[in-house]
Amino acid sequence: MFAGARRITALTGAGVSTASGIPDYRGPAGVWTKDPAAQRMSTLESYLGDLEVRRAAWRRRAAHPVWLAEPNPAHRAFADLERSGRLRALVTQNVDGLHQKAGSTPSMVVELHGSATGTVCVDCGSPGSMRAALERVQAGEDEPDCPACGGILRSTAVLFGEPLDPEVLRRARAAVVDCDLLVAAGTSLTVQPAAGLVGLASTAGAAVLICNAEPTPYDGLATAVVRRPLAEALPELVAIAPIDDAERAAPLTTWGDPSTWS
Ligand SMILES: [Zn+2]
Repeated sequence: MFAGARRITALTGAGVSTASGIPDYRGPAGVWTKDPAAQRMSTLESYLGDLEVRRAAWRRRAAHPVWLAEPNPAHRAFADLERSGRLRALVTQNVDGLHQKAGSTPSMVVELHGSATGTVCVDCGSPGSMRAALERVQAGEDEPDCPACGGILRSTAVLFGEPLDPEVLRRARAAVVDCDLLVAAGTSLTVQPAAGLVGLASTAGAAVLICNAEPTPYDGLATAVVRRPLAEALPELVAIAPIDDAERAAPLTTWGDPSTWS
């Protein structure tokens, strides 16, 4: 299946980054599994409405392992897949920036849930870097404000319950209907609309490969399910030599690319 794929779209989730020391949300040791209150505190409404929630968020960010995390072999496998010329897009639910750090081209990465590496002012819209804001926290500020207007800074990561950027979602949908293989890796496929991308890919005719430690609601429509650790399984999959185009019986056809229609 992997050898035969010519245009692969990947959908990745927290499970890709757990080997880098970043806890997931819904797994057995997940942030929200262990502390359901943390999920309720992750809404924009509670963040904007409560100074204590914001102070706690800044303390949590400053202590978060994401700032020291390094990519693991699962991230590097997707960078290798891109270099092989078969990656259509890398759609991720992760906000940690580790795909880019592993060598994936930023324009190939579709960050469904935004990025935790940036800040934006909710009052004037000024963008900034999370690193700069956290340096102010480490220097003693309990809530760094907007350098331009003094407004509230938030992370550019999408908060719980917040709608996704429509343009980002459009790019993700375009990529899943324009592949012959969708690889969903390290995602529980329980969060919409990200999970629905798997059904969309399948409807559009792509084969679906699910690589996840736990069962997902989409396992039934997958062509194959891989339960092995991603840091082992993904490099092995990507190392499989593709079938030579000259040996193929059928031309590439994707629903999303009219130039492949015959
Ligand atoms: Zn501002």
